[in-house]
Amino acid sequence: MWWQMWIDSHSHHYFTSLNVLDSLYRSGLEAVVEASWIPVRPSSWGTLEDVFRWLVEVEPQRLQKIGLKLIPAVGIHPRCISPEVRFDKLESWLNDERVKALGEVGLESGSEQEKDVFVSQLKLAKKVDKPVIVHTPRANKLAVAILELKLIRDSGFPEEMAVIDHFNFELLKGLEKGSYMIGLSLQPGKISVNEALEIIKSIDLERTMINSDSSTEPSEPQWGLELMKEIGKGDKRLARIIGVDNAARFYKA
Ligand SMILES: [Zn+2]
Repeated sequence: MWWQMWIDSHSHHYFTSLNVLDSLYRSGLEAVVEASWIPVRPSSWGTLEDVFRWLVEVEPQRLQKIGLKLIPAVGIHPRCISPEVRFDKLESWLNDERVKALGEVGLESGSEQEKDVFVSQLKLAKKVDKPVIVHTPRANKLAVAILELKLIRDSGFPEEMAVIDHFNFELLKGLEKGSYMIGLSLQPGKISVNEALEIIKSIDLERTMINSDSSTEPSEPQWGLELMKEIGKGDKRLARIIGVDNAARFYKA
């Protein structure tokens, strides 16, 4: 069942037990992108520094035990902006060859502080030539995504190296088309397998990736495999393109 191999292109699986990950691996999960985020606002920069160390220095060894490949991403999520932000330290992390992307970054409410932190991070990613995982919020999703796309374009960041994540029908209808990648997050409250099957009829599949966004929120980390199986019934090659090849190309993994 080779088409069932899957690169989960956006997750926070460092919160998931190894037993669950092992069973996903046995079902066809090949690699996971783990992007930095924590469910509390950091009280100091040191908290973020410790999350980055967790992802880059400790998590690879844990996943190695079950043969699952890790693609780490570090960045400052808009809900995780620390009182003091050390962009110099973040730049060192992004320069680390083990780090494959900047993420998860973007806007939540669209405040001035969030915009400043997002744009500064885009500049760092451009400097080190790494792709960017862009969060879109649940509330006010379209307006915030439009603003994010504008900031990406205005900052001169290469659009094809940014994934607009948690894409849904609202963004499909309202967000200007472009060369950005599209991330489909299969998670309760975001989109279901059936909704994803509907959305992929209308988007450029060379620019589409599938993810679970698994976190401390209710998650269904096997839905991506179910989607690939459904797509594979009609077109195995297509399942592989959006489930594996696009993510491997985007993350150079
Ligand atoms: Zn996420």
